[in-house]
Amino acid sequence: MSKKPRFFCDNCNTEVDRNANACPKCGRFFASVRCPKCGYSADDNSFLNGCPACGYSAPPANTAHSEVKMIPAGKLPIWVYVLSVVAFIVAIVVLIIKVVN
Ligand SMILES: [Zn+2]
Ligand SMILES: [Zn+2]
Repeated sequence: MSKKPRFFCDNCNTEVDRNANACPKCGRFFASVRCPKCGYSADDNSFLNGCPACGYSAPPANTAHSEVKMIPAGKLPIWVYVLSVVAFIVAIVVLIIKVVN
């Protein structure tokens, strides 16, 4: 039988997932972050450049979200604009060539 470590919210004593960074019941954010690889725990700032103990590069806390580029709803990525400008220029060039011929 494997003995799984258990974690409890220090605010309401609800059992929480070991990787959770907030309590699902009371919403309290936990001050410390736990490395999923080696189990080392420290505050968020210690994990900005990965785990200080083992060098695990993906911070397990909310800092991980900064790695992901989020596109806000209703805003298209820049390449869509670039592509439409290029398509517009190509259309004009094609039109000019047709007129010249
Ligand atoms: Zn709680
Ligand atoms: Zn680690």
